[in-house]
Amino acid sequence: MQIDAPTWHLRHTPCPCVCGGEGSLAFLTCPQCSAVVLVCDEVGTTFIDPRSLQVSTALSALSLSGAQCPSCQHVPLSSFEPASSSQIQALGFTPAEYR
Ligand SMILES: [Zn+2]
Ligand SMILES: [Zn+2]
Repeated sequence: MQIDAPTWHLRHTPCPCVCGGEGSLAFLTCPQCSAVVLVCDEVGTTFIDPRSLQVSTALSALSLSGAQCPSCQHVPLSSFEPASSSQIQALGFTPAEYR
């Protein structure tokens, strides 16, 4: 029996990408180097620094096909997995900041 890990989403922060704040930002992690990114679940925009949502450095969904992990460059973003609660807290988020 396999239990799927929950996908955690950032609270209180509207997504700053082209979704106009409609999307939720999901925490995903690289299975190889454990880098954590935030992904808009509406349009797939990927923010490479979860603590600083910079649209200027975000990867748009259009450029995502074939995009690699921004940290190790070895794993496609499409293979990222849901980040664990402890990984999110290691970034400095408190449990009140995600759900
Ligand atoms: Zn968005
Ligand atoms: Zn990586």
